[in-house]
Amino acid sequence: MTTVGLDFHITPNPAPAPEARRADILADPGFGKYFTDHMVSVTWTPQQGWHDASLRPYGPISMDPATAVIHYAQSIFEGLKAYRHDDGSIVTFRPEQNAARFQRSAKRLALPELPTQIFVDAIDLLVRTDAAWVPTRAEQSLYLRPFMFASEVFLGVKPASHVSFYVIASPAGAYFAKGLKPVSIWISEEYTRAALGGTGAAKCAGNYAASLVAQQEAIENGCDQVVFLDAVERKWVEELGGMNLYFVHADGRIETPTLTGSILEGVTRDSILTLAADLGHEVVENRIAIDDWRAGVSSGEIVEVFACGTAAVVTPVGKLAWRGGELAMGDGEPGPVTSKIRNALLAIQHGHAEDKHGWLHKV
Ligand code: PMP
Repeated sequence: MTTVGLDFHITPNPAPAPEARRADILADPGFGKYFTDHMVSVTWTPQQGWHDASLRPYGPISMDPATAVIHYAQSIFEGLKAYRHDDGSIVTFRPEQNAARFQRSAKRLALPELPTQIFVDAIDLLVRTDAAWVPTRAEQSLYLRPFMFASEVFLGVKPASHVSFYVIASPAGAYFAKGLKPVSIWISEEYTRAALGGTGAAKCAGNYAASLVAQQEAIENGCDQVVFLDAVERKWVEELGGMNLYFVHADGRIETPTLTGSILEGVTRDSILTLAADLGHEVVENRIAIDDWRAGVSSGEIVEVFACGTAAVVTPVGKLAWRGGELAMGDGEPGPVTSKIRNALLAIQHGHAEDKHGWLHKV
């Protein structure tokens, strides 16, 4: 595998969004609705390896109807953010961790592993080119979406021998525009997200397609998010559709489900393992039974529960519901430990606290 960088062929967008339009968007970007002026792409074939690297105007990708990804979902992605600091500089948060996860996902999906340097260079190039799109307001960021898919035109079921890698970018508003609000969680009893030996630890498109029906059930039952249990015993808490979970005990101990092979290893989850320890908490990875979650909240042993991920950072869980019951957690306000961890992480990302673990990557 090559580790050298690539020379990107640059084609500037001749018609970028006018400044006034961009300012309008950045005033209220929401999430995933608007895209910057450029995108990056790199092609892979067994003969040429990674080649044909380019930065060009953002726009549609035309596809032959027989393109493999449409049929067999050989497709992976990542999600990370670029943050604007007060001095105007721009950083990304632990991009090499996303690069490493992207390689693990690629391996599981029989896709080629993109070298970390190309992954990080591609993001840096796009962010530098579209720097005007990195928001300046509090808690806003530029969400980056690297993705890779089977672009070979062939209906045989096999690993593609033509693969495309892209990065696109989308300005993201503060996730909780009206202030941090606890989410309600629905226990998926019928559907599971991932089995051992399956693709749960990979960030592949199909995992998200398979989670939608469970998420729909959560919404139908008045909840915001779904929590998945393990596929064998239907007993162990795994994660939400797009976030990992943490439990705060009365004695200050913090627990998160062990990575069993069917849970996605979140970069935020990993950062909180370190950060919570910095803040004086004992942090443990454990198997957590759904009945112990319920019993722990009822007895007062579990005092706070929060979810974490790139998009929402840290989100308090205010309610757990299932067919035939529900349980409130906390008083409708984010708990003190949840708030402390959330603020500590945001402070590092936005440059308001010392980056003592070297998590920030200057673009
Ligand atoms: N679990 C799943 C299933 C996810 O999609 C995500 C978002 N990537 C996470 C957890 C959180 O991961 P991260 O902290 O890297 O965003």
